[in-house]
Amino acid sequence: MHPGDLTGPATFATAGESTYCRDVADPVSQVESAPSASALRRALRRARDGVSLDLDEAAVLLAARGSDLGELLAVAGRVRDAGLVDAGRPGVVTYSRKVFIPLTRLCRDRCHYCTFATVPHRLPAAFLERDEVLAIARAGAEAGCKEALFTLGDRPEDRWPAAREWLDARGYDSTLDYVRACAIAVLEETGLLPHLNPGVLSWAELTRLKPVAPSMGMMLVVNGTPTRPFGCAA
Ligand code: SF4
Repeated sequence: MHPGDLTGPATFATAGESTYCRDVADPVSQVESAPSASALRRALRRARDGVSLDLDEAAVLLAARGSDLGELLAVAGRVRDAGLVDAGRPGVVTYSRKVFIPLTRLCRDRCHYCTFATVPHRLPAAFLERDEVLAIARAGAEAGCKEALFTLGDRPEDRWPAAREWLDARGYDSTLDYVRACAIAVLEETGLLPHLNPGVLSWAELTRLKPVAPSMGMMLVVNGTPTRPFGCAA
């Protein structure tokens, strides 16, 4: 994926940390009509009072501008800071250093969205070898990283014979099998915590990966059909 790449069709993120995308269009343009001043005042008042907002109120607040926006930001800041105080670390925002491991840049999907996915002839190999994965992870660990963030396309073997052949030659049934093996290797040999972005997963697949990955992420690209949204893996 393309952290920070905010171009492209409407998307949203469910991932745990760094992979976030959104619609580039002004969100206000998606509200059917501009909210009334009274609706905006009411939503702002409820936000100021710490009331949980519903979807309509949140949409109304997207129209806040000028002094209203300033007040909204101040309210949001208070909510954020209260959370840090409750967590026992006022004013302290933590983060986790991570090294990116692009396990494969092949993907079965054609989102025409990302700059990450490519075609086999542009790559030296369909996947990074296990040793290459470990070399990147070790370099990350030496640089002070705590996590290994695996970026990859969604089940490239479903589309690309080169990916299928690469996996077959090394005895892996699927990309998911391979990412699991690499996660175990990274965990055992470097101590970095694997974060996996393997795309759409069944419950069984998720359950299988869970013991080897403290976190996983997926971004849903909603310009697919409603019955089959793309699951951005990268
Ligand atoms: S699913 Fe993600 S990695 Fe695959 S083509 Fe779409 S945006 Fe790119």
